[in-house]
Amino acid sequence: MDFSLSETELEVQRAARAYAQRVIAPRAHELSERELFPVAELRGLAELGMMGVNLPAALGGAEAGVVAYSLAMQEVAAACASTAVTMSVTNMVGEIITKFGTPAQAERHVPRLCSGEHVAGSFALSEPEAGSDPGGMRTTATKTSSGWRLDGQKQWITSGTHAGVFVVWARTGEPGTRGISCFLVEAGAPGLKIGKHEDKLGLRASSTVPLTFDGCELPESALFGPLGGGFKIAMTALDGGRIGIASQACGIASAALSAATEYAKDRRAFDRPIADFQAIQWMLADMRTELDAARALTLRAAWLKGRGQPFSREASMAKLFASESCNRVCQKAVQVLGGYGYTREFPVERYLRDARVTTIYEGTSEIQRTVIARLILA
Ligand SMILES: Cc1cc2nc3c(=O)[nH]c(=O)nc-3n(C[C@H](O)[C@H](O)[C@H](O)COP(=O)(O)OP(=O)(O)OC[C@H]3O[C@@H](n4cnc5c(N)ncnc54)[C@H](O)[C@@H]3O)c2cc1C
Repeated sequence: MDFSLSETELEVQRAARAYAQRVIAPRAHELSERELFPVAELRGLAELGMMGVNLPAALGGAEAGVVAYSLAMQEVAAACASTAVTMSVTNMVGEIITKFGTPAQAERHVPRLCSGEHVAGSFALSEPEAGSDPGGMRTTATKTSSGWRLDGQKQWITSGTHAGVFVVWARTGEPGTRGISCFLVEAGAPGLKIGKHEDKLGLRASSTVPLTFDGCELPESALFGPLGGGFKIAMTALDGGRIGIASQACGIASAALSAATEYAKDRRAFDRPIADFQAIQWMLADMRTELDAARALTLRAAWLKGRGQPFSREASMAKLFASESCNRVCQKAVQVLGGYGYTREFPVERYLRDARVTTIYEGTSEIQRTVIARLILA
């Protein structure tokens, strides 16, 4: 077994870390407090190839692989989880279009996603009454003489305010998962309305909005993948997306551990650094152990995906464990900092708030357990 990283992976990790620490981390607090979408930071990431880490060079991607993508995500998330989720969904949208789109769809959108011309891409699956169960979606796509007409609502759409392109799922046939198809919708499409920004606990610099499709007219060429084959596309995309969210969780946990470690060495009580107390040492030891286990699961899933091997169960296990352990690590980080950990003066309260959603989006922990159990029992 070889745990070493390739030269390309190390290079991507170094570039992501340097940019994240030099440019993104110093702005993360302000971005979060003022709920500013990180346009300049995302464009900087695009220049470094981070918006298409695992995409073919012919389409403008970095072609550096899935492990490199996970490492880059971890570095960006350690600086700013909001910027990281935008990067994650944009990479995912680029991958979906590359894998399932026609050459014309890929050539039109993927280079724009990779270069930052589209500052982000959006993935529009969830609806107000269909989150864990997308088979219950109500948005419809009706055939017209010139193409398709979309009617319905999507909910919780990351980057919806800034996306240049949306991958949207809608019902074209029978109820359930077999009657769903997938469409590419460009920003500004007539009949697409972007709703009000959600007022969230964390990830306050990421955009999360509802979308309304009110007789949204699309050309014939907007159909994406086979008619009725949309659900499979969504599930395949989410398998990969879960590696992104697991990586995001690892990044947040790593930032929380660093902050807690520094503080424990510095803060004094009873005439000694609190790092001298075994209670604090054990918290740090547990945090590091959980983080390393989360990273191992995440990189294993990334490695399998990169080799073209089955990775659904491993991606769900990585997402489940990394997200839940990230929450435990952030809770402990706040505890190490005591009262200061509970204030905006230190970043650990932001890490804790940002961590919370990782057990919810791209499939809740309950859904990950369901997927894992189904694959064990298959
Ligand atoms: C900040 C944020 C960003 C998001 N970004 C996107 C995005 O870009 N695109 C997108 O499409 N969606 C996005 N989502 C939506 C997200 O994926 C859903 O919120 C998530 O899938 C859960 O769906 P729900 O909120 O409808 O909860 P529900 O499905 O209503 O679940 C509520 C509770 O019931 C549990 N539950 C449901 N079904 C089962 C079951 N079968 N067994 C056991 N427990 C179950 C869930 O685990 C949960 O605890 C985002 C959400 C948030 C909060």
